[in-house]
Amino acid sequence: MPTLKSINDLSRHTQPLQAKLGEAIERVLRSGWFVLGPEVKTFEEEFSGYCGASHCVSLANGTDALELGLRALDIGPGKTVLTVANAGMYGTAAILATGAVPVYADILPDTLLVDIADLQRMLDQQQIDAVIVTHLYGLLADVPEIVRLAHARKIPVVEDCAQAHGAMLRGRKAGSFGDIGCFSFYPTKNLGALGDGGAIVTGRADLAERVRQLRQYGWSSKYHADLVGGRNSRLDEMQAAVLRVMLPMLDRWNGRRREIAARYTKKIAHPAIVAPAIYAEEYVAHLYVIRTKRRESLKQHLAEVGIPSDIHYPVPDYAQASCRRLFEGTDKQATSLACAEVLTLPCFPEMSDNEADMVIDRVNSW
Ligand SMILES: *Cc1c(COP(=O)(O)O)cnc(C)c1O
Repeated sequence: MPTLKSINDLSRHTQPLQAKLGEAIERVLRSGWFVLGPEVKTFEEEFSGYCGASHCVSLANGTDALELGLRALDIGPGKTVLTVANAGMYGTAAILATGAVPVYADILPDTLLVDIADLQRMLDQQQIDAVIVTHLYGLLADVPEIVRLAHARKIPVVEDCAQAHGAMLRGRKAGSFGDIGCFSFYPTKNLGALGDGGAIVTGRADLAERVRQLRQYGWSSKYHADLVGGRNSRLDEMQAAVLRVMLPMLDRWNGRRREIAARYTKKIAHPAIVAPAIYAEEYVAHLYVIRTKRRESLKQHLAEVGIPSDIHYPVPDYAQASCRRLFEGTDKQATSLACAEVLTLPCFPEMSDNEADMVIDRVNSW
């Protein structure tokens, strides 16, 4: 009987790559160059090529990508950024770090992505200086439509692609639609390093240049800091070399994730559970998330029968203890309800069909 240790077993992910990863790491050791060297430069070229964007600037993590991306767009104190509140504080933390204020559009109950009608209403109602679109769980939002609405009002769009590496819509990849696409390479992401990492991609040379300066103290040249808001946020050579080993596997991994998710959706049949739809290449199944009004009962049942599960995410950003006073009175109905009902099942590329069927069986026997 197979056993699942958690919703995502990274030891199985890296095991088949050990020889190649070892070679890559040794190459960096031998080079004696550990920060902003040839591995980083080559990875940036390879990743921008993969995303179909002309520029990539690698960074220390995905939250920095969001924050420095916003700063490059002149977001700071006195500015307002529109996003969603069901995405684990990432966007909110980045917005607050710039000194700007987050406001939230509600989500749609079926996709758990931004409700475009609510987004449009908010764009019309108040001053908004940027929009962050979150491709939650690996499902692309209708970003062409959001870009159309925002750009008509001269508002820039930042895509949060930290869960959506490689997701595609009409032949274009996540990150290539908005002004800036932000990625995390945290180990559990669809493309994950062996530590922290992040990047922005963009088609705009001016924005790429600004983020490049911001990641290194605001320098325009060595020791000359011309840009406000700079600091240290760099991907290191070791992680870049590791990511170069993994990038060629990404599409295959995403395909396998999507296969497992489709298997779940086809076979999960329980009157108290709502499973997500079956999606094509616009979904890279970063997380497989079901909904139920009796989440605690299901979670406990699964724990008893040896199936790990998790909650992404239990608390809307506006209701977080650290933010509650800032967002007094903010409540988005579909967002609050989703946070009370979502449950994540194991889904990672190395899972076997047998393991997926075991999860399905245990879910259906609840
Ligand atoms: C993981 C994640 C981030 C943050 O990335 P870090 O590298 O952990 O800073 C941002 N947005 C989303 C949607 C994420 O899932």
